[in-house]
Order: sequence, then C-alpha cells, then structure tokens
Amino acid sequence: MTGAQEILATARELAEQGECTPRLARDPVNEPMINNWTEALGDANPSYPAVAPPAMIQVWTMGGLHPGRSADDPLGRMIDVLDAAGYTSVVATNSEQTYHRLLKPGERLAVTSRLEDVVGPKRTGLGEGWFVTTRSTWWSGDEPVGEMMFRVLKFKPKPAAGVSVPPMVSRDTEFFWAGAKIGELRIQKCSACGALRHPPGPMCPRCNALGPTHIVSSGLGEVYSYVVHHHPQVPGKRTPFVIALVGLEEGVRMLGELMDIDPEQVKVGLPVRVRFVPSGEFTLPAWEVR
Ligand code: ZN
Repeated sequence: MTGAQEILATARELAEQGECTPRLARDPVNEPMINNWTEALGDANPSYPAVAPPAMIQVWTMGGLHPGRSADDPLGRMIDVLDAAGYTSVVATNSEQTYHRLLKPGERLAVTSRLEDVVGPKRTGLGEGWFVTTRSTWWSGDEPVGEMMFRVLKFKPKPAAGVSVPPMVSRDTEFFWAGAKIGELRIQKCSACGALRHPPGPMCPRCNALGPTHIVSSGLGEVYSYVVHHHPQVPGKRTPFVIALVGLEEGVRMLGELMDIDPEQVKVGLPVRVRFVPSGEFTLPAWEVR
C-alpha cells in the first residue's frame, strides 16, 4: 500500500469504529475552577459559579500535566499513522463547540470521540498535509451535554521561508483582521453597555448583549507583561523574539510581537505603539517602542 492508501484505510477503519471508550473527568465540575477561569478572563457574569461557563466544557476532561488518551482514541491513532508517513507537524485549524445545556458544580463528565473525516493530501501554505476532523461528545451520565468538532492539519513542514502560521478567523474576529489590513487596530465594543473587550467574542460578559460593534484604538499603550520566545523554532521567524501583552490606552490588553528590540531592553511599562506587519494574506498587529 502507498502512504496515501494506508492513511485512507486507517481512516475508514477508525470511522467505522465509531465512539471511543469514554474517558472519565478527573474532577467534577467545580466552583474553584469556575472562579479561576472567570477571574482570569474578567468575566463577571453573576450566573457563575452556580453554573459553569459553557466554553469551559473542555476544561472538565483535560488530562493535567501527564495526559493520556483512551487506547482507542481515533485522533491518537490517526496522528501516529500520519507521523509514520512523514506528516510530522500539526496545527489546529478550526473547532466548533455546541452546548446542549448549562453544567452545574458536582456533575462529573466523561468524553468520547470519533473520527469524522480525513481529507488529503492537500497542498497548503504550510506544506502538504491531511485535514483530520474528529467530533468529541461530553456526557453527564448517559446524557450528551456538549460536542466539539475539532480539525487539525497534519503536514510535512516546508523549510522556513517567510511562511507563518495564519491566524484563525471566525465570525467574531473578522472585523479585527479586516481592520488590521487597513491599518486600524479595532477593539470590540458592546453595543448595549459600551464595554470594550479583547479578545473579541459573541456576547458581552458584562450585560450579555449580542451584536457588538467596535472602536478604533489609538494604538498606544504600555507593556503589561511579556515573554522572550527562544524555542521552539517558528516558521519564518528568528529566535529569540519578544511577545508582549500590551495595555492599550483604551483599557484592554492585546498580544503581539514587540519588534526591533533587544530582548534585554524590554521591561514592564515600556511605552509602545502598534505597527502593522503584512504576513501572507494577513496583516498582523505588532508593537514598536515609542
Ligand atoms: Zn454590554
């Protein structure tokens, strides 16, 4: 069998196998974790922690520092086969979650997953690869409470030549990328209560309004926190480089590369301004010292 035939044969076999063995969550849905999460995200919705934020669903079945998969987990098997065929790099391309109801502290979830689809080989900006789609279902007892479609691209990396990983664009973030393309740093604004927020999302965490609008930031701010990236290598980038979380004048924080600076010179409070850097089809906001 050729590599492609073997990949497709494994995909068919795994798809027929259906749901894998359920993996039970280590802990039940719990208030401390909900409080940590909502505090980290600045989400003051008063419904929490009596119920859990729906977007936390994946948290409840995370494996901790030493995660294991079910032996029959289809994504694990598919990744092994693709690794063996030389498609050694992976990037998540998209995921969609569906929540059937709110979860309450005390419920202990289990997760199953099945292989939906394997498509390839495709030529992509990152290299030749296969798109692998799985669907996970979270269960509370025998009731399905949420689902996630998760798609990865397993690819043969091209030698670094100015290629960078494209950002994920969704309905919630397309205004941001459209702004960057024309040199505007856009911040999402609640159309009801006026609260600004970043990263963008579909619903205002303060008043739950939908249908947000946006403002254009001055692009001026200060370094709130930063990391110096040494490893791993990133396609098209020379290490080390600096990624800074910048507190903008408007009061929200935003991540970006801090360019043209010796990592030794970076410090918290450093005044910066936005700079727009074309990268493939995208324009990425980055920072420079002012
Ligand atoms: Zn609001």
